Amino acid sequence: MNRRELKGLDLLKLDGCVKPTSDEGVFLIRSESNADSWYKVSWNNRKWTCECKDFVQKEKKCKHIWCLQYWLALKRLAVALKSETAGNICPHCSSSESVVKRGFRYNMSGPKQTYYCKKCKKRFVERNAFLKMKNAALLILTALDLYFKGLSLRKVKDHLRQFYGRDLHHTTILKWVRKYSKLIGEYVQGLNMAFGDRWNADETIVTINSRYIRLWALMDSETKLLIAYKLSKRRNTEEAEALFEKGINRAGKPPLEVITDGFAGYHEALQKLSQKIKDAQHDSIAHFYGPLTGEINNNFVERFFGEIKQRTAAMRGVKSE
Ligand SMILES: [Zn+2]
Ligand SMILES: [Zn+2]
Repeated sequence: MNRRELKGLDLLKLDGCVKPTSDEGVFLIRSESNADSWYKVSWNNRKWTCECKDFVQKEKKCKHIWCLQYWLALKRLAVALKSETAGNICPHCSSSESVVKRGFRYNMSGPKQTYYCKKCKKRFVERNAFLKMKNAALLILTALDLYFKGLSLRKVKDHLRQFYGRDLHHTTILKWVRKYSKLIGEYVQGLNMAFGDRWNADETIVTINSRYIRLWALMDSETKLLIAYKLSKRRNTEEAEALFEKGINRAGKPPLEVITDGFAGYHEALQKLSQKIKDAQHDSIAHFYGPLTGEINNNFVERFFGEIKQRTAAMRGVKSE
């Protein structure tokens, strides 16, 4: 790790160090010396740029970019950890082996995963899942960071006990290193950087050359970047599937979560794709759909459609596929 990278990791420890903006691929990173001032980091031409003096003068990844990349890695890790840490202990009988996922329950903050305990035959909803995930992700990221700084597994273990109050076996840490270092490494090196693991899909009607046509869009929840779009006459499972296939080709990987409205074609398409990617050893895709409210919504895709509709003249050059 170089000096800028270490400083970026230091920045990451500040609370609320990264603020996503409503612009696609634009984030604000808190200044280290002044909590009220922020640096804008943007994704342009497949690389990150920062407006700070260090980046402008040296054109090297500054601490703000490192901070953002680790922050995104942390998010990605949190998603990967979700199935392992969220809700798998029954709050009624504390059993951990007998809990299975059982659909979703909707409330003000959007869909919540519900679980069923086969041992005591009770249902429960995930609680503080994000907090649990974030803490687990931070612990793992810290462990990996120390390990790759050259500390022995026992020293890493001592550090985690001293600073996080967690008593872990050193083989657990080794397991993390093996399991997550590739994932984080790819992210931090900037591979697969553009797109996260949660995608939003939606469609709308636009007029092109005074004909009505359906516009489909697939966007990345984290960066608000457009992953793929397509135009079609019909609204069916095949068209939805083609949209997702296009997105997976473009991103070079399938998503872990997809958010859509209640159109059944999305669900069928994702089930088909989940089967395909399972054969290729990928995790299956979780699908959130139906009434979208609160944190889980399609608002930014709708904003994107709004902008497109205002510029339909510019769409005339776009050929139907
Ligand atoms: Zn910077
Ligand atoms: Zn139970």
